[in-house]
Amino acid sequence: MTDCIFCKIIKGELPSERVYEDKDCVAFLTIGPVNKGHTLVVPRKHVVNLFDMDDALVKKLFIVVKKLIHPVTNAFNADGANVSINNNEASGQIVMHAHVHIIPRYKSDRLSAWPHQTYADGEMKECGGRIRKRLAT
Ligand code: 5GP
Ligand code: ZN
Repeated sequence: MTDCIFCKIIKGELPSERVYEDKDCVAFLTIGPVNKGHTLVVPRKHVVNLFDMDDALVKKLFIVVKKLIHPVTNAFNADGANVSINNNEASGQIVMHAHVHIIPRYKSDRLSAWPHQTYADGEMKECGGRIRKRLAT
């Protein structure tokens, strides 16, 4: 992808603070960290997000995430980490080259949590059924 910022970073055409690389994946620091050390793990292959990824690539990507979660967390004395992927614009994805965020988190960082809804009577069962139905087809 010629216009993709992460493809350019992967090829070394744009600078980045790279912390890890192997034949399939690269990890570098985001320029807009939620907390210091916030790392992005990206496949070298241009895929848009999880909707677009084959199982073999998911496996490789998450093995790298697992490899990095201790170093990223320990290097910043964090108490935990969020590991997340935004999939499509509606979810907050801005860069359309798949990337897994590893975000060091602190008990004290007071970042707002997701809002929570509730289910009406029977609605949870109905929602589960919708997903199971699509899994079965
Ligand atoms: P998204 O919202 O797409 O899941 O996250 C995009 C991430 O890429 C953000 O953390 C953002 O700060 C980071 N980012 C955007 N442009 C660049 C860049 O040129 N270099 C680096 N290192 N990170 C970038
Ligand atoms: Zn790309």
